[in-house]
Amino acid sequence: MGGNGLQAFPARHPVCGDGKPLEVPMRSSTILLALLLSLPVLAANPEGYPLHLTFDDGPNPATTPQVLAILARHEIKATFFVCGSRLASQAGQRLLEAIVAGGHQVANHTWDHPWLTRLGDAAIRKQIADTRAVIGDRENGFLFLRPPGGFHDTRVDALVAAAGYRLAMWDIDTNDWRFNSWRRKGDPRGAPANFLAYVGRETAAAMKSSRLREGSVVLMHDIHAYTANRLEALVQNWEKQGCRFVDHLGFWPRYRP
Ligand SMILES: [Zn+2]
Repeated sequence: MGGNGLQAFPARHPVCGDGKPLEVPMRSSTILLALLLSLPVLAANPEGYPLHLTFDDGPNPATTPQVLAILARHEIKATFFVCGSRLASQAGQRLLEAIVAGGHQVANHTWDHPWLTRLGDAAIRKQIADTRAVIGDRENGFLFLRPPGGFHDTRVDALVAAAGYRLAMWDIDTNDWRFNSWRRKGDPRGAPANFLAYVGRETAAAMKSSRLREGSVVLMHDIHAYTANRLEALVQNWEKQGCRFVDHLGFWPRYRP
């Protein structure tokens, strides 16, 4: 990874996206030269633009297994920001085990998905601690928390940090959870009717952004059939765009413990 230090970390996690060159179907050096000249971001990231996939709000017995199977087929390791209330049942615990067995990172998305900015300090602490308790030791030493809805402020940040967690937001929002209603009601952000094209456009914008030169964290939701049914095509589109999948949030300097 051209000097941005993504490779050296983390030692505790198995790595598969590590330094494998982007498999460009090259017939001649001319094609490679054209690729590098036309895609300056790829030139900065010769192994491909780094993406890390994250899935929030689950697990869901109806959809999470499908997501896990697709990730396994493509040898992608993701982060699952789970809700504690979904792990209390035996079915929930089995799904948690399946996520861990797939080599993915489990992370904290609170107990039942409240907007933390609306809760008192004690309630916030309880949301975090109860979820941590039901996850058990499966966070593998990495404590990442994503606030529901992305809502946080300095008070929430301080409580998250005091609980030992690192706030983990995202760069590319697929808007998977509301794309059906966007399509029905008309899309306020001018997204095309095609979900894959929309995500591709958001990814292309991130790839051009100098702020995101080190790669992007992608937000999705494994609780929706909508997402599970499109994940394979999404992954293939990202590969075509010149992205590669990074296995762990800890590869990014901004998410290091
Ligand atoms: Zn959420």
